[in-house]
Amino acid sequence: MNLSSEVIQKMMGAVKMTREHELDCGQCYGKNAAEVMPLVQEHLDLCGACREEYQALLDALKAIID
Ligand SMILES: [Zn+2]
Repeated sequence: MNLSSEVIQKMMGAVKMTREHELDCGQCYGKNAAEVMPLVQEHLDLCGACREEYQALLDALKAIID
């Protein structure tokens, strides 16, 4: 999948709105998309709550991107 940084930014904003439950979540935000993606991926591997939210967003975004 080829996500534009604009889409990623929107995605991150949505995740931030719904998940601010732990310090690691906060560490994912406030950086540019290219820099933060590896950190986000790592966090998603460790945090089931964020992973669920992220997957739901990806599913929703597929319709927009396609
Ligand atoms: Zn999390």
